[in-house]
Amino acid sequence: MTPVTVFAGRRVALFGLGGSGLATARALKAGDADVAAWDDNENSREKAAAEGIAVVDLASADWSGFAAFVLSPGVPLTHPVPHWTVEKAKAAGVEIIGDVELLFRERAKIAPGSPVVCITGTNGKSTTTALIAHVLKAAGRDAQMGGNIGTAVLALEPPAANRIHVVECSSYQIDLAPSMVPSVGIQMNLTPDHLDRHGSFEAYGAIKERLVAASDIAVIGVDDEPSKQMARRRAASGRKLVKISGEQPLDEGVFAGVTANAGRLDTRIVAVEGGKPRVVANLAGIGSLRGAHNAQNAAAAFAACASLGLSDAEIAAGFRSYPGLPHRMEEIGRTGRVVFINDSKATNADSTEKALTSFRDIFWILGGKAKEGGIESLRRYFPNIAKAYLIGAASDLFAATFDDDGRVAYERSETLDRAVADATRDALAKPGEGEIAVLLSPACASFDQFPNFEVRGDAFRGLVQTLPGFEPFGVKG
Ligand code: ADP
Repeated sequence: MTPVTVFAGRRVALFGLGGSGLATARALKAGDADVAAWDDNENSREKAAAEGIAVVDLASADWSGFAAFVLSPGVPLTHPVPHWTVEKAKAAGVEIIGDVELLFRERAKIAPGSPVVCITGTNGKSTTTALIAHVLKAAGRDAQMGGNIGTAVLALEPPAANRIHVVECSSYQIDLAPSMVPSVGIQMNLTPDHLDRHGSFEAYGAIKERLVAASDIAVIGVDDEPSKQMARRRAASGRKLVKISGEQPLDEGVFAGVTANAGRLDTRIVAVEGGKPRVVANLAGIGSLRGAHNAQNAAAAFAACASLGLSDAEIAAGFRSYPGLPHRMEEIGRTGRVVFINDSKATNADSTEKALTSFRDIFWILGGKAKEGGIESLRRYFPNIAKAYLIGAASDLFAATFDDDGRVAYERSETLDRAVADATRDALAKPGEGEIAVLLSPACASFDQFPNFEVRGDAFRGLVQTLPGFEPFGVKG
């Protein structure tokens, strides 16, 4: 835990006692702040009170005595409407901040300049965060990973000169961290998302840009127009910039280059410094980093780790041993040439698209609670499908798309266990050589048959692990 001592002896209001809120309340208390915490949920309040955190009804509290108000990132600061606590704080002139801000203030006090890498963007944040933390640890560094990816930042070990914090930041967290000054700030990409919470695409982009603008070293993806403009503005500022691309060669920066090699596609990460390109890693054969989107994530991770002083060889070795995150194109293992992939996090067609471009001869398990537009946008990848297995409520809708298209053989398996059995049977019977995939990438929410995507993915993993001849994923040379 990182005790927050910057508010020692002062009164701090806190709203939201979920995972990160509770960890923040603990950290403030450990640093001798006088915390007044509240949550609408009675269970959360009771849990906090049981550990001695003062639960105070902020609706009737005197706000004039608070030195700061700590808001959970899940609670609206501005859109669609500011939360009532935000109105109260503003009316009383109390500053509104989040846990990432507290981390940076504490760092400024106890370990100024200690390394902190912050990662944001619309997509790939968690993968890049986990990859950076893994590479650092594999190279023997003390890496502390947290933020939006799971562990609350204040539950991590305190900042220190020889300890690297790797923090995934949602736009909400950036919005609540006005004095964040990362050593390395990464902006991956920008596409419309969460606009309900930020009002407009411009406002959403401006928040993300604040992270890189405040960073000593800015790593910025240039594969979309808004991010490219952020990189231009950074370059104009004269401060250190590393451009990254998962798609195109760069004259300076880090990019992924794809080359054909004996019938398979190799993705090489190329670093260009002073105009001189050098191949620094090859992603071929790394199951956890398949696909063009992961090439961008690896380029970003390389840029960050290199700027923290790791060698090319250390970073490449870390890539090779990266186990991947559960439920995101997670390679569970194989039976012969059939590889089993758990992409349960793909709850919409956009996410599933990444998986469909990463394999050929796919035995595709999909369905659940359909999203707007269904799988219409995926038609151009239908030639990659060997056969599809429909589960859950979306079966009729998706069958209609396949019938209309005419290129995809499919079966109505209805449940996940039947789909796994059906797909495995067909995949094992397929003659030929080379890797083929049984892929759970539902393009749907899970709620019709499962509580959430994690339970769905765990169920898939459990079913696959009991198949005869199954070999769990092991890291390949
Ligand atoms: P986030 O934390 O930003 O939600 P994740 O790393 O958890 O991102 O990846 C979630 C999904 O987003 C992946 O399953 C994949 O479909 C897609 N994705 C991952 N990285 C990228 C990227 N660099 N560009 C576009 N899409 C990506």
